[in-house]
Amino acid sequence: MTESNAAAVVQTVGVIGAGTMGNGIAQVSAVAGLTVVMIDISDEAVARGLKTIGGSLDRLVKKDKMTVEARDAALARITATTDKAALAACDLVIEAATENEALKLKILKDLTAVLKPEAMIATNTSSISITKLAAATDRPDRFIGMHFFNPVPLMALLELIRGLQTSDATHAAAMEFAKRVGKAPITAKNSPGFAVNRILCPMINEAIFALQEGLATAEDIDAGMKLGCNHPIGPLALADMIGLDTMLFIMDVFYQGFNDPKYRAAPLLKEMVDAGQLGRKSGKGFFDYTAK
Ligand code: NAD
Repeated sequence: MTESNAAAVVQTVGVIGAGTMGNGIAQVSAVAGLTVVMIDISDEAVARGLKTIGGSLDRLVKKDKMTVEARDAALARITATTDKAALAACDLVIEAATENEALKLKILKDLTAVLKPEAMIATNTSSISITKLAAATDRPDRFIGMHFFNPVPLMALLELIRGLQTSDATHAAAMEFAKRVGKAPITAKNSPGFAVNRILCPMINEAIFALQEGLATAEDIDAGMKLGCNHPIGPLALADMIGLDTMLFIMDVFYQGFNDPKYRAAPLLKEMVDAGQLGRKSGKGFFDYTAK
């Protein structure tokens, strides 16, 4: 196989991690007609991932968006296992394991012994350098960031991130893959937050500064951005959805990654994380969720 026709041969996709993102990636790949190998570290995690896919496809059938036959065929295309040797057949492996740099570096290094030489590798990391992860593999030119959005079956965007080493053929193959699984790709260079979170998270952080300064109430800040900018959700409600601990982590990645004080986290964000007010998942953030 030459690099230039790499796009045509992605037929079997491996997904490492059967969690929130991994099972979504496995689902959209299987629905697109690709053969899928989804792996995780325990039988429970694998079973949970498969169950989530089954539930998600059942909802599509109920809404008449998918036939029973198509659902069964998609499920039949997925092999879910704890045995990473099953990745040997894959043309593309997408790493979607827990966001931990040491863990991801080890997973990627271990792939060398398993993958066929021409296979491509992608990572769904939200915050780790694609260039650094690529360097841990035996094929940095055939490595790319594929930043899917949550929930994967519903969100249209796939942000592709080119590391310094990513070849044009790998980027072209990733574009083809994105379209094949029904996503609209955009491309960004490797940089903290890539393109979308680089713009979104400082905007949310600025909304928190505005609240902290007493510029407007939380309700008015969110109403202002929804009604004045046509955002479907206000920045503070979105922060509550993402989780304030995750927001603080991302701002700290920017602050350290760019060495630029413009990315400093709002003191109120730190204070709320210290208080355990993490947003929806803790019942309270900028808004109260205990009654819902
Ligand atoms: P998650 O915790 O839901 O799932 C992670 C899964 O990885 C777990 O099932 C875990 O058992 C598994 N895992 C851990 N070590 C493994 C190993 N060695 N081999 C195989 N599987 C292993 O996490 P998630 O939200 O799905 O996040 C996965 C990745 O996607 C992270 O890099 C995250 O930054 C990124 N991401 C998450 C979101 C989001 O909104 N959740 C959005 C974009 C990107």
